Amino acid sequence: MFRDLFIHLCIVISFLFVGGIVFKRNPYFTSLQNRLVLGVLAGFLGSLLMSFSFSLNDTTIMDLRHIAIVIAAYFGGVVPSVIAAAIIAVSRVLFFPISTASLLTFFVTLLIGLVIGIVGQQKIRDINRWFFMIIISTLLYALNLYVLIGSNHDFLNLMFYYWGFSLIAGFISFYLADYIAQSNYMFYDYKNQASTDYLTGLHNTRQFDESINTLLPKANKEQLPLVLFYIDIDYFKKVNDTYGHQTGDFVLKEVGNIINDMTRSQDLVFRNGGEEFSVLVSDTSVDQIYEIAERIRTKIESHSFVVSNQSPISVTVSIGIASNNSYSETTLELIEKADDALYKAKRTGRNRICVA
Ligand code: GH3
Ligand code: MG
Ligand code: MG
Repeated sequence: MFRDLFIHLCIVISFLFVGGIVFKRNPYFTSLQNRLVLGVLAGFLGSLLMSFSFSLNDTTIMDLRHIAIVIAAYFGGVVPSVIAAAIIAVSRVLFFPISTASLLTFFVTLLIGLVIGIVGQQKIRDINRWFFMIIISTLLYALNLYVLIGSNHDFLNLMFYYWGFSLIAGFISFYLADYIAQSNYMFYDYKNQASTDYLTGLHNTRQFDESINTLLPKANKEQLPLVLFYIDIDYFKKVNDTYGHQTGDFVLKEVGNIINDMTRSQDLVFRNGGEEFSVLVSDTSVDQIYEIAERIRTKIESHSFVVSNQSPISVTVSIGIASNNSYSETTLELIEKADDALYKAKRTGRNRICVA
């Protein structure tokens, strides 16, 4: 039996490791797609554990498949938990001889999926939540076994091992699952922070370099337009000098929001430092480009930046536009062209758009 426990633990650990890799890029189970994938993977794990079960008599088997359902419920709540339970329940009927035992277990497994899923969604301390789920599922499967093989000496003996194994495996898998999830959350958060501007929440310069260096060669190769807007707030120093740095920060945030709102979801908006922003627009026509830039310019011009206890502030922006007309521009050349156009917009009076 200890060999069986060891094998089960090895399977759970491998699954957690692989699951950690699968969900590394998106470790939060907020999307339905992630929860569905989790449910299917956990269902597969439970069925695998079941195939390593130990037979108690001709029709009754015992294993730690409920840990798979607990993992699904812990991370994703009721949806993956029920999916995992359903896959396990169906495998129980498909891959083992049909009997009263398999039919009863079919329904008990579904019930466990539902109950554990609901417990998994409760806002209680993680470790408590995990152990509630382990205890409830072990208890329900124990009752299932009791109905199937009755209370005799064997049953009590069996229960001793079953509870022991379930709790030990539950404890080890909790620490491992939590460790992997925490590392994934950290990786995800640090990765986001490294590419996000702390003040506006837009992409930062580092991300700008990465995006333009990926998108430009691709657009050139496919002979598709890639357009770069350089946007600079006019006389921003005056805002800081007149109203203070904090108000300046507020205006920067608002301008960032407006640029974001005035562009399409597929356009990439960056704060390149100070009061300079940029937008990378792909997949668009020449008319649209000017329209987008003009929309940004007029919206900012007409916006009242209201800070409490202060009179509303107005600012304007100058915009330089450049695109990969010859499909052979390097990143540096495109940036230089946009910069020149912006400089021209500044020189010729500000609050205007110049195209390179
Ligand atoms: P121009 O129309 O020629 O662009 O004039 P300008 O005053 O906007 O340009 P300049 O480059 O002279 O000044 C930019 C100012 O932006 C100076 C700096 O104090 C301010 N600034 C840069 N980063 C931040 C920031 O994070 N917060 C705030 N509040 N101000 C910033
Ligand atoms: Mg400026
Ligand atoms: Mg500037």
